[in-house]
Amino acid sequence: MSGSALFETFARAPLAFDHGEGAWLVTTDGERYLDFAAGIAVNSLGHGHPHLVEALREQAGKLWHTSNLYEVPEQRRLGERLVDNTFADKVFFTNSGAEALECAIKTARRYHFVKGHPERFRIVTFEGAFHGRTLATIAAGGQPKYLEGFGPKVEGFDQVPFADVDAAKKAITNETAGILIEPVQGEGGIRTVPAETLKALRKLCDEHGLLLIYDEVQCGVGRTGKFFAYEWSGAAPDIMAIAKGIGGGFPMGACLATDEAATGMTPGVHGTTFGGNPLAMAVGNAVLDVVLDDGFIDEVNRKALLFKQGLASIVDEFPTVFEEIRGIGLILGLKCRMPNAGVNMAFREEKLLTVPGGDNVVRLLPPLTLTDDDIREGLVRIRSAAERLAGGASGH
Ligand SMILES: *Cc1c(COP(=O)(O)O)cnc(C)c1O
Repeated sequence: MSGSALFETFARAPLAFDHGEGAWLVTTDGERYLDFAAGIAVNSLGHGHPHLVEALREQAGKLWHTSNLYEVPEQRRLGERLVDNTFADKVFFTNSGAEALECAIKTARRYHFVKGHPERFRIVTFEGAFHGRTLATIAAGGQPKYLEGFGPKVEGFDQVPFADVDAAKKAITNETAGILIEPVQGEGGIRTVPAETLKALRKLCDEHGLLLIYDEVQCGVGRTGKFFAYEWSGAAPDIMAIAKGIGGGFPMGACLATDEAATGMTPGVHGTTFGGNPLAMAVGNAVLDVVLDDGFIDEVNRKALLFKQGLASIVDEFPTVFEEIRGIGLILGLKCRMPNAGVNMAFREEKLLTVPGGDNVVRLLPPLTLTDDDIREGLVRIRSAAERLAGGASGH
């Protein structure tokens, strides 16, 4: 019965939403859910944000699409704003995270190609990574469950244990083009890469002439309490893929690079029909209006602290349910002692939406705009789910 006309690729929850307000979603039956999943870190400014709605409405009345055959003023503007606020000098807009990663990988390979080293195409990646579902990005992620049955794995990715600098160093050969890492693993279970590790990888790349590539598709755009997560470490990349939060719910992504790293990306070597489309660009600019506004990121940090303190006391109170809290800012994970799917389900029964992740973690990725009341309400629901689960665990 379920979704019979659709590919059966998603194990969907039996919930359909009609509209949303801030951190709340309302089902077609009128039931209210507190949304601490935010479309997997996509709805960075919650649902129905007036500034975003207005930006999209205004653009929809003007122009939807012209193609990259012409100048797209809103694209130019968003590119400049990203450049002004990051390590980057250049931006390529995409429609998704995986496409942003594809562009990042191609940019790194092409860099070495134009430098006279076509043999340098391999990229070192880390266990537990998630970089998307295209053929190249499942190879980069290296997870057997995503590779199985899809033919030969795309050549050129060498995976080493999570955040292991020595292993990364050993994996470098004269065919290596770069190192690709999520500063905070999302799908892998909210695992934060230590600042020292990112610094050491930066150094390794400098020593070997490699490009350091960050995947900030999930952890970027204010989520960690900095505009981008790498800012916590001070180790800037050469190339970075972003998506999810930058569109606030409108599908878009981007690949950012330094001038040097983008050397090989000359006219005609890469392209996209929809990437940088005026509708997406209008929304992306509107998201930045809010996220880059004075005090917004400070508020993310303040709220994250409030939330984390509340979570810490729940974790202490229910040691049979939770093992620890992970993450930084509003990309948090509860590592569970019981199967995370059951914990995620118990939250949903409390009408709280969360996302399971790897390493038996439940991810908490609320909109960055959530209120203190939303946090308090979320904690009440998490506690009450934990209480039920703990009762079950101790056999009461
Ligand atoms: C979601 C995600 C991707 C893939 O993004 P899509 O838009 O689904 O293609 C890549 N990397 C990370 C870290 C992600 O969280």
